[in-house]
Amino acid sequence: MRVRFAPSPTGFLHVGNARTAALNFLFKKKYNATYILRIEDTDMERSTRESEESILNDLKWLGIQWDEGPDCGGKFGPYRQSERFDIYREYTEKLLEGGHAYHCYCTQEELDAQRQKALQANKPFVYPGTCRNLTLEQKKAFENQGRKPTVRFRVKDGITLSIDDQIKGNVVFNSENIGGDFIIVRSDGVPVYNYIVTIDDTLMNVTHVIRGEDHLPNTPKQMLIAMALGLPVPVYAHMPLLLGPDRTKLSKRHGITSVAVYREQGYLPQALFNYLALLSWTLESGDEIVPVEKLVAEFELSKIGKSSAIFDFQKLKWMNSVYLRNLPFDKAFELFYPYIEKAYPAVSNNKWLAQVVDTVRGNCEIASDIVKEISVFFGDTAEFEEDAENMLNTPDAKTVIQTAYELIHSTINEHNYTTETLNTIKQKTGLKGKMLFMPFRAMVTGRLHGPELDKILPLLGYERFTKRIEYCHQRFV
Ligand code: GLU
Repeated sequence: MRVRFAPSPTGFLHVGNARTAALNFLFKKKYNATYILRIEDTDMERSTRESEESILNDLKWLGIQWDEGPDCGGKFGPYRQSERFDIYREYTEKLLEGGHAYHCYCTQEELDAQRQKALQANKPFVYPGTCRNLTLEQKKAFENQGRKPTVRFRVKDGITLSIDDQIKGNVVFNSENIGGDFIIVRSDGVPVYNYIVTIDDTLMNVTHVIRGEDHLPNTPKQMLIAMALGLPVPVYAHMPLLLGPDRTKLSKRHGITSVAVYREQGYLPQALFNYLALLSWTLESGDEIVPVEKLVAEFELSKIGKSSAIFDFQKLKWMNSVYLRNLPFDKAFELFYPYIEKAYPAVSNNKWLAQVVDTVRGNCEIASDIVKEISVFFGDTAEFEEDAENMLNTPDAKTVIQTAYELIHSTINEHNYTTETLNTIKQKTGLKGKMLFMPFRAMVTGRLHGPELDKILPLLGYERFTKRIEYCHQRFV
């Protein structure tokens, strides 16, 4: 069996496409199929090599491996469509010779006018077949006017195209309803997607086309081309669309949609893969945190649901936090360190830092959260969150600050501050529980929540501890 993932290199890898790549990968692993990576780069204006490179990198990062592709070659290459134009030309000749295609000399302006008319009449535009049966003289006359023809595929009426879709079930199209004869080669000689995808899937011996539902309307056109050329039609499986939480097409408006940005923010590839791979089906056990081997073992196209999947950003974050917490400390530290180094260029990678990271890592959902979490330990004055600041303006908090201030100028010193300060304040003020801990925490960390004070204080160090108390005394009392 052979599957393919066929990205267009016109930007970063989108999570929707990454999900297509991921499901093809599960299929490959499950059935020991060959995975083809084909670059669909015939949109010369928008396709770039940088985009191709970043897509390949993101796929590799997600753990998706392919067997044939532009970087590793294979028996059915080349694997960039831009390098296959000779092949397409050959097939265009065949289609023209067999009468399955013809040259069309209609100009853009003429077609636009027809389209406009259809729009006004509230009807879908159907190419009226103007150039279907031109004589040689008519063609010459157009060419003498300097018109460059497109090549159109001749769609015969009355053909029923039945797709036995592995996900959608049986989907039937009638050839009358696909918009008339469609262009397969543009006037500048560039062949169009529906056409070359058919040639490539066939020549690359693709057996299963697993892709997004947005391509379902293209399928009858691709089948007609294959049938005209006497080529086999692959098995199709169209995955339901990904929607944003408001049930409209997933877009940047909803949140991050680019794999590269997830990567930058410190998501783990295993977590993102897990999330994407399980968007439209569930395991019988109901497990959601599932390693790739188990996903492979349980995967079947028939388990994929028909209805659209909602991309739940919060759930992805939660999933990531589980993977992050399960990482051994060294691995987690490796992941956090670049963010720390960037935010605190003067920091030393030492035992203290390791302890700080260990203390707060449990609060990080994604690796970049570490910057905010460890900020508690940096700076002579804490950065106050709003609720902490409000708390510090209450009378009880002022009593705590005043007492702490007096203690650091009398009995508390660097040897006893971690064990004595809170106890002594408790004795002196009679405050206890929340009324004591919350202001104290707010005073030394600037926040109302965080790791245990017993852990924070030794790591904070006596000097910072006293400076923060001094500052609060000056500001709030
Ligand atoms: N290049 C197409 C895309 O990026 C995919 C083509 C296909 O899967 O048939 O949407």
